[in-house]
Amino acid sequence: MLKLKNIKKQFGDLTVLDGIDLELKKGEVAAIIGPSGTGKSTLLRCINLLETPTKGTIEIDGFSVDSKNLSPKDCIELRKKTAMVFQNYSLFKNKTVLENIMMPMTLVQKKDKKVAEEEAMALLKKVGLADKRDYYPSRLSGGQQQRIGIARALAVHPEIILFDEPTSSLDPELVNEVLELIRELSNEHECTMLIVTHEMRFALEIANKIIFMEKGKVVEEGSPNELLYNSTNERTRSYFKQFI
Ligand code: ATP
Ligand code: MG
Repeated sequence: MLKLKNIKKQFGDLTVLDGIDLELKKGEVAAIIGPSGTGKSTLLRCINLLETPTKGTIEIDGFSVDSKNLSPKDCIELRKKTAMVFQNYSLFKNKTVLENIMMPMTLVQKKDKKVAEEEAMALLKKVGLADKRDYYPSRLSGGQQQRIGIARALAVHPEIILFDEPTSSLDPELVNEVLELIRELSNEHECTMLIVTHEMRFALEIANKIIFMEKGKVVEEGSPNELLYNSTNERTRSYFKQFI
């Protein structure tokens, strides 16, 4: 479903991604774990081409692009298959909650306004915020804003949702409502999810695959059990020791 081959990313002399290979099956939930500055966000940004990889190919749902040969049309096609949930919600401040969710449907998918509104309302119900439809984001709590961010990501029916530390800007008491929503989505198995998170317990609980990254490389990947308790890799063992 998602297939990355030899993704490299350099910023000047700095090699941030150093040959990433990764495969996810449809409906799979994978968590990327690793120290700060390792390239986790850059990897997500390369998958939806917010950054252009220096090298490598990205395939989503049978559609493949090579970073050496990227046409604007390819970028648009690939982006349509992805959606991203950001650490800082990235909602449009001057749009209401409903408008925020409708935007990708009317702008990207060119859906009729009325259809978009109906679908947006259904998504608002799904994330439990139907009564907030006419609020501006500033009137919502961080947890509510992030749930809107997730509803907006779902609005385009992406093949894969990329979450970049979706709870790390939240006050501790608001983390759970967002994790709970992501957990619900993961149980529906409709969408493939790739989640960068420091919430190790959550990752271990919902991910069927953990990807341990360090210094621009995938050190090891496997089931939570394999990585946490049964790894033979020295680096994996010493990193995960702090969570046991
Ligand atoms: P964290 O856990 O702190 O979020 P990360 O694993 O997400 O870290 P990235 O944000 O991907 O790490 O950054 C990896 C490296 O790439 C860092 O050294 C960062 O400074 C560098 N980097 C990221 N974006 C750029 C950019 N646009 N220009 C130059 N360097 C960049
Ligand atoms: Mg990051």
